[in-house]
Amino acid sequence: MVIAGGGPAGCAAALTLCRHTDLSVMLVEQTGYGEDKVGETLSPAVLPLLDYLGVGEHFRQGNFAPSHAFTAAWGDEHVSTRDFLFTGRGHGWHLDRARFDAGLANAARSFGTQLVLGKRLKQVQKQDDGWRVDLSDDVQVQCRYLIDASGRSAWLGRAVGARTVQDDRLVGISAYFSSSDLPVESSSLVEAIPAGWWYSAPLPDGRMVAVLMTDADLLQASNADRSAFWNEAMAQAPNTRERLGLRTVSGDLQVWPAHSQQLEPSCGNGWVAAGDAAAAFDPLSSMGIGYALTTGIHAARLAASSITQKQDDSEQRQAYADDVRRHVNEYQNLKRSYYSVETRYSDQPFWARRQTATAA
Ligand SMILES: Cc1cc2nc3c(=O)[nH]c(=O)nc-3n(C[C@H](O)[C@H](O)[C@H](O)COP(=O)(O)OP(=O)(O)OC[C@H]3O[C@@H](n4cnc5c(N)ncnc54)[C@H](O)[C@@H]3O)c2cc1C
Repeated sequence: MVIAGGGPAGCAAALTLCRHTDLSVMLVEQTGYGEDKVGETLSPAVLPLLDYLGVGEHFRQGNFAPSHAFTAAWGDEHVSTRDFLFTGRGHGWHLDRARFDAGLANAARSFGTQLVLGKRLKQVQKQDDGWRVDLSDDVQVQCRYLIDASGRSAWLGRAVGARTVQDDRLVGISAYFSSSDLPVESSSLVEAIPAGWWYSAPLPDGRMVAVLMTDADLLQASNADRSAFWNEAMAQAPNTRERLGLRTVSGDLQVWPAHSQQLEPSCGNGWVAAGDAAAAFDPLSSMGIGYALTTGIHAARLAASSITQKQDDSEQRQAYADDVRRHVNEYQNLKRSYYSVETRYSDQPFWARRQTATAA
């Protein structure tokens, strides 16, 4: 079995397979987990999944910062707070995402996964009894089953003929702010502005991350360069500006794809997609990591039963694909309801697009 991508979805699939089957598993991750990665708020609902994967205790000892509340200036200029205490699930966490992902991959290795770092899948070819996979550096591998956990690129799914259906053009422009004498606040803050919205969150190492969410075409169409666009948007976000205070930006601004997207189909004969590769959501939903872990587990179960039962698995595949579509439908309703709350900027393209979708 070859898994493309060592994010939460790929690691969850590898952990499930190695802990519950005798199949041999290779997890291929193109990076070495050395770079910052966005997506740093973990909902309290995710802990039972980490426990199921056998890494809950390791995670609790990982010195990630607790997140007790979620704050937002959304719909009007006042900041309102939702305390995780009232969800009945305990607190959430602010992650160092690269360290979180690397921890999952190392746990998978300790359970028997062959972890290949710094190489990427370049080509796949169907054969009678499985697949031939070409990795970078002229490495070739034969396997019976493939799991696509390559994130929004859905590289593998597209390589075997599936197509991505994109719902919007959302991107995130991130910057890291160095620590200062200011105390680190324990909550994430979301703040709506005419061209999109901001989120900012403390990181376990004392830095803060601030991300401007907007549409790719709005960023391109503005005559300003990326930093001028960022500064103009920051000038419209008093609450975000205030919490960043005197901190200074460390490093460059980075742009991340954040569009909503679905892979069609999400699985086929001898392959299945999990996480963002199967369905990717607006970060406003906070569904990403939890969904990646859940679908990683389900994809592993589908892969294992397809290989071990050696019989027609079309019913299981249908059930998996239906489940992905059901989640996407539920998510689309949620997304419409979130964006319909903010009516101050309804004449602005970013909001009009999402609110027209609401009316439809
Ligand atoms: C701006 C932003 C903020 C977000 N904030 C949050 C948040 O606060 N909370 C939350 O839960 N979610 C958040 N998300 C979403 C979350 O980060 C993703 O849903 C989650 O990372 C999906 O996990 P994954 O394993 O499916 O994909 P990824 O984490 O994207 O992992 C895919 C991996 O595949 C590797 N890869 C790709 N192609 C290849 C190849 N050909 N060969 C080998 N390796 C390959 C990549 O290097 C990558 O490591 C955010 C996303 C964005 C863009």
